[in-house]
Amino acid sequence: MAERLVDLRSDTVTRPTEGMRQAMAAAEVGDDVYGEDPTVNALQDEVAALFGHEAALFTPTGVMANQIGIQLLVPPGGELLCDADAHVITYESGAAAVNGGVSSRTWPAVGADLDPEQVAAMVRPDGFHAVPTRAIAVEQTHNRGGGGVIPLATLQALRRVADEAGVGLHCDGARIWHAHVADGVPLSTYGRLFDTLSVCLSKGLGAPVGSLVISSAERIERARRIRARLGGAMRQVGVLAAAGRYAVANHVDRLAVDHARAARLAAALAPFGVVDPARVRTNIVPLDLAKSPVDAISLGAAAREQAVLVSVLGPRTARLVTHLDLDDAGVDRAAEVLAAILRG
Ligand SMILES: *Cc1c(COP(=O)(O)O)cnc(C)c1O
Repeated sequence: MAERLVDLRSDTVTRPTEGMRQAMAAAEVGDDVYGEDPTVNALQDEVAALFGHEAALFTPTGVMANQIGIQLLVPPGGELLCDADAHVITYESGAAAVNGGVSSRTWPAVGADLDPEQVAAMVRPDGFHAVPTRAIAVEQTHNRGGGGVIPLATLQALRRVADEAGVGLHCDGARIWHAHVADGVPLSTYGRLFDTLSVCLSKGLGAPVGSLVISSAERIERARRIRARLGGAMRQVGVLAAAGRYAVANHVDRLAVDHARAARLAAALAPFGVVDPARVRTNIVPLDLAKSPVDAISLGAAAREQAVLVSVLGPRTARLVTHLDLDDAGVDRAAEVLAAILRG
């Protein structure tokens, strides 16, 4: 392949920048199982403060951060409510059921749309034979929902639903940074709406590894025990936390660039009827090829021949994701390549 590869499969494909590698190399470290890694402690304190919470815990993956958040709110035999496309039940290998003994029930997913009244009607109280609802989980931004952003007012209404029902509220905030940049809602405003949140450092923020679960000091103390049980207690992990601190300090505001590039891709492909640019709010461009003469597998294969990689999610669905390792020239070339294929 003569052209430089433009990898639009996911925002997880990024490699650490030079500045990030320097921060990693210089990181002070200690044994984090003893709570003695100063860089991990600093990252946890900084991220907890950003989200207006008392404490946070570093985890190797977002799946682990989500599952700890869920286990903190839902005891074995309790129920979690979420939408049918939620990452926590779609892409986490059944972890809530297997590791937490958590029963899940879903409402139908329609992009990132959320109706708090519909959720309120699903809550089941304690009672003889009932599976009592203990928590509700939402995803901000919504991955399978094409990077859609749930409006702040909707989340506030859902908080009232959770309070009235006496159940917990968890946010899968793998890309909550993108919602913050797209809607201008402070991270602390989001943070205070939820009892537990997970956030990823290894998606749009560009760190090689790492997520955090964020909550009260009391819950995060319990979270340490759950993380240890899942095999996620690590030692001199400050080298990774340093990448995360660098990412939080340097790579949040620049997500606006990723959003603008996603919007450019959407605008270039909209004439082929495969995407509604108005629905592309963040860094994900979902392609619906239901009415296109080109199916997703052919699109993926033809693009790959021209050094453009896209995610093929189904026979007629594909996805483009923008991130830190792209540049304007690459995005424009990808738009031309994809447009030419769709033109047929
Ligand atoms: C990527 C992602 C996660 C976490 O995934 P890991 O690969 O375990 O870091 C959680 N939720 C959403 C919505 C995601 O996109």
